[in-house]
Amino acid sequence: MDNLELKALEHIRGLLRGNSIPKLEGELAEQPLLGEIHEDLKTIREILLSFSAGDFSPAIRIRGIIPGCLKALQAHLRHMIWQVQMVEKGDFTQRVHFMGEFSTAFNSMVQQMDKTLSVLKQKEEKLQSEVTRSFSAMEALQESEARFKFLASHDPLTGALNRVSFMDRVIMETERACGEPFCIAIMDIDHFKNFNDTYGHMAGDETLRHVVKVMSAGLRKHDFLGRYGGEEFTFFFAGAGETTGMAIAERLRAALETSPVKLEYGDVRVTASFGVAESGEETFFKDREENTEDLSGKKSGIQGLINNADLAMYSAKRSGRNRVIAYRPELRGVSGAGELTGLVTA
Ligand code: GH3
Ligand code: MG
Ligand code: MG
Repeated sequence: MDNLELKALEHIRGLLRGNSIPKLEGELAEQPLLGEIHEDLKTIREILLSFSAGDFSPAIRIRGIIPGCLKALQAHLRHMIWQVQMVEKGDFTQRVHFMGEFSTAFNSMVQQMDKTLSVLKQKEEKLQSEVTRSFSAMEALQESEARFKFLASHDPLTGALNRVSFMDRVIMETERACGEPFCIAIMDIDHFKNFNDTYGHMAGDETLRHVVKVMSAGLRKHDFLGRYGGEEFTFFFAGAGETTGMAIAERLRAALETSPVKLEYGDVRVTASFGVAESGEETFFKDREENTEDLSGKKSGIQGLINNADLAMYSAKRSGRNRVIAYRPELRGVSGAGELTGLVTA
C-alpha cells in the first residue's frame, strides 16, 4: 500500500470517526473516487446529526444502501409522528406495525386509551342525563312551589291578592311609608246577584276577572287591590289623602262604567259602588281602639279603616249605587249599616 492510499484510508477514517469533517486537499483532492466517498459520508453525517437532534425533515438525495435505510427510517419516524398527532386529535384507530416492541406498546396504549375514553364518555352521558333529570325535577319543584305560593296568597279566580295577603301587604306598605297618609277603599259590584241570574254564573266569573283587569289597569304604580270576598274588592291608595283617594276611586268607577264586559250575549255594562276611608290619625287610631275583633296593633287599625270604607260604600249603595262616597263618622249608627256586607264589626 503506497503512501497516497494510506492517506486516503486515514481521511475516510476521519470522516467516519472524527468530530469534524476533515478537509479534502492536496493530492487527495485530485482523486475523484475519494471525492465521491467524501461527499457521501459528509451527507450521511449531516443526516444522522439532524436525526439525533430530532429533526427528520432533511431531504435524502444520495443513493445506496445506507441512505436507503436512512430514508426508510425517516419515512417510518415521520409516519409515526403523524400517527401520534392523529391519536392526539382523538383517532384511536391508529396502529404502528414497523417498530417492534414500540409498536406493541404503542398499540396497546392506544387501545387502552380508547377503552378508557369510551367508559368515561358513557359515565359522562349518564351523569349528564342525571343532571338534566335533577335539573328538570328542581325546575318542576320550583314551579310548583311558586304556584303554591301564588295560590296561597292570591284569589284563584281573578288573580287578585286574597284577603290575608292584602292585609299583610297594607301593613308592609304602611310600615315602609311610616306616617304617610293613605286610603283604603272598598268596591262592591252593583246588582251582581241579578247579573248572575240573568247571564249565568260563568258569565259572572268572567265579569269578576274583567273587573279586576279594569281596576288593575287604572291603579297607580304603588296602589294595589285584593279580593275581599264575593264581588267585593279592597284597595290601597299609597300616599293618598282623602281628596286624592276619592279622585282615584272616581277614576276607577268611571273606567268600569265605560268598559263593558264582552260576553257571548254582547257587551254588558257593569257598575260598582265605592267607599273610601282615609288613614288620618283620628280615624285610624280611634277605630283601632274601638275594634272588637281580636286583632292587634296595625292589623286592627287597618281593619277599622276597611270597616269605615265599607260604611261609606254602603252609603253609596243607599244613594243610588255607581258612585264614590268618603267615610264620615256620622255614617256610624245609620240604620241598616252592615246589613249589606256584614263586615262592620265596630
Ligand atoms: P248590590 O248592588 O246591593 O251589591 O247587589 P248585589 O246583588 O251585588 O248584592 P248581593 O250581596 O245580594 O249579591 C252578591 C252576589 O255576588 C251573589 C253571589 O252569587 C255573587 N257572587 C259572589 N261571588 C261570586 C263568584 O265568585 N262568582 C259569581 N259568578 N258570582 C259571585
Ligand atoms: Mg256584596
Ligand atoms: Mg254587590
